[in-house]
Amino acid sequence: MDRRQFLIRSSLLAAGAALPFKSLFAEAKGTFTPIRRNVGCFTERGGTIGWLASENGMVVIDSQFPKSAKNCLNGLQDRTDHPLDLLINTHHHGDHTGGNPVFEGVAEKMVAHENVPKLMKESNKESEGKGNTTFPTTTFADSWKMDVGDETVHAKYYGRGHTSGDSVIYFEKANVVHMGDLVFNRMNPYTDRPAGASMQNWITILQTVADEYPADAKYIFGHGKPESGITGNKEDVGVMKDYLAGIIEHVQQGIEQGKSKEEITKIESLEGFENFLYADFWTLPQNLAVAYEELTQS
Ligand SMILES: [Zn+2]
Repeated sequence: MDRRQFLIRSSLLAAGAALPFKSLFAEAKGTFTPIRRNVGCFTERGGTIGWLASENGMVVIDSQFPKSAKNCLNGLQDRTDHPLDLLINTHHHGDHTGGNPVFEGVAEKMVAHENVPKLMKESNKESEGKGNTTFPTTTFADSWKMDVGDETVHAKYYGRGHTSGDSVIYFEKANVVHMGDLVFNRMNPYTDRPAGASMQNWITILQTVADEYPADAKYIFGHGKPESGITGNKEDVGVMKDYLAGIIEHVQQGIEQGKSKEEITKIESLEGFENFLYADFWTLPQNLAVAYEELTQS
């Protein structure tokens, strides 16, 4: 194609965007990545969505934001005619529950740990009436499971981690685990201490998960450094565990050496994890401060 043809083509495409062709382009929103046995993940904006789309079942794990949730639902409805059996929220944060209203009246059940609706209501208090009121209505304290078509979906709570309402979701037959925000792949994670996070128990959770699920399980992570991606394996879960353990160790050593909180928390990267992504929305010093508060019980 020469430059002139290219320009004509481009202007036609641009004009097309405003014409009925628009619906053709709408389908391309977001990215669907199949993983194994009708289970996959979807990324557009916010925490990674996990999905099951088979002849006899449809499940969505987390809902991102309304716009991307709609794109995800449209794409899944292209994959199966089966109605949506379940929406599960791995935890209450807005980038995992913001799209819940899109699934209201569409999902047969909305499932989460029992603390999720409570924590959503808490955060609504700070949002001056603009909060999300589509709360999960099927809740559990320890674990929950349901057969969906030829798959069995498990949700399990391992105690306080990234918040006090994080579930690990397991597609048993596909052998795929959705970790929600318990894993930020190669990335300094957000730690929500006001919502009951515990960095020390988070480490225990990651060890338990790595031991409990089959060694060849595939994992979906809530977030990740772009170069490292949002899917992985048991070893990647181990890296997140080692990172959190490194934070605790750094702070513990500082306390033992009689350093001040400021001295302890003022570092730019954690030794041995220089390749991690340190984003601005939640910094390493903020995580070190969380660890400091945990260790000093203040
Ligand atoms: Zn989160």
